Amino acid sequence: MEFLKRAWAEVHLDRLKANAENYKKYLKAGTELMCVVKADCYGHGSVVCSKYLQEELSVKNFAVSNLNEAIELREGGIDGEILILGYTPPECAGLLSEYGIIQAVIEYDYAAALSDFARSPVRCHIKLDTGMSRIGLRFETASDYADEIIRISELPNIKTEGIFTHLCVADSETDENREYTKKQISLIKSVRAELLSRDFSLSHCHFLNTAGGIFCSDGASSLARLGIILYGLTPNASLALPFEPAPVMELKAVVSQVKTVEKGTFVGYGRTFEATRTTKIATVSAGYADGVPRLLSNRGEVLVKGRRAKIIGRVCMDQFMTDVTGIDVKPGDTVTIFGTSGKERITADDIAAICGTIGYEIVCGITKRVPRIYFNKGKPV
Ligand SMILES: *Cc1c(COP(=O)(O)O)cnc(C)c1O
Repeated sequence: MEFLKRAWAEVHLDRLKANAENYKKYLKAGTELMCVVKADCYGHGSVVCSKYLQEELSVKNFAVSNLNEAIELREGGIDGEILILGYTPPECAGLLSEYGIIQAVIEYDYAAALSDFARSPVRCHIKLDTGMSRIGLRFETASDYADEIIRISELPNIKTEGIFTHLCVADSETDENREYTKKQISLIKSVRAELLSRDFSLSHCHFLNTAGGIFCSDGASSLARLGIILYGLTPNASLALPFEPAPVMELKAVVSQVKTVEKGTFVGYGRTFEATRTTKIATVSAGYADGVPRLLSNRGEVLVKGRRAKIIGRVCMDQFMTDVTGIDVKPGDTVTIFGTSGKERITADDIAAICGTIGYEIVCGITKRVPRIYFNKGKPV
């Protein structure tokens, strides 16, 4: 047996390609793809997915959240550009240069510390905060931004190759939010124009994320940082997309035991479920320690033999119970927690809706003990 058939995640690589190709249709000339592969490719497995993207789609730009993720990619054979979107302690400057990684630089003092620790130039993209108030330079005018960008770039070991910003409401259709996004975009474009007018050239100026690339596509963004749709989920489940992304991950587990209980029988911790009729229960071998949210207790469903079965009682750490009354099921049968079974489908976005969160959190929350099994065109690889 090549993996423990208890709880596992099937990752369909060909769907990454389909999603990226669909998304690329919305990009304008001048915008190249940057695949956001942070957080272990949103839980899908960073090296395997990134290598597939490099080989099958000729992706040349990757973005991660931190230095460990960046080094993991380099050592795993990714030779394209790798941008760290988040924080790297300045004392790690040497590793950035050694591995040829690009660092997001968020303010002058950080850049100065990075420059001090580095012994050769560190490549960087300077982050502008244009409205999200997370990280980045924040000024009123394009001229003030340009002054600071130039001051940072004059540091001895800082090599500024680009500027970028992050849109915080590109996935919203309200007029107010559309206007907010336009302002963010026009601000970074005016900073770029100001820099050009001062003969300061940039290889990159980028601001599109998944939602931006679809709803506010703009050729002035040299890169589109594609994250969530690559994995087949939506930036905002209440927003209609022009194409249907194909969810890349399916989470499965097996039935460990089947039993029939009488009306009045309690199920699970806290006795939160009481059978209102004779009920056939299948216990499933996955729990919140695998990433099945405990918020699905008495609320979620799973797929068994192409049929929907309700989760009954509380989700435990390693197991949960389902009502399979009327379904022909035996120990060892596969249960789909999200994915497709027969004509039925449950997505990580569906689960997120029940739990009051976003699909991102569901797939990122699939834990380390769940083996990722890779498929290409339906065949294990
Ligand atoms: C995570 C992230 C992205 C990708 O966002 P999606 O909504 O998944 O496309 C892009 N840019 C930055 C700065 C990010 O942190």
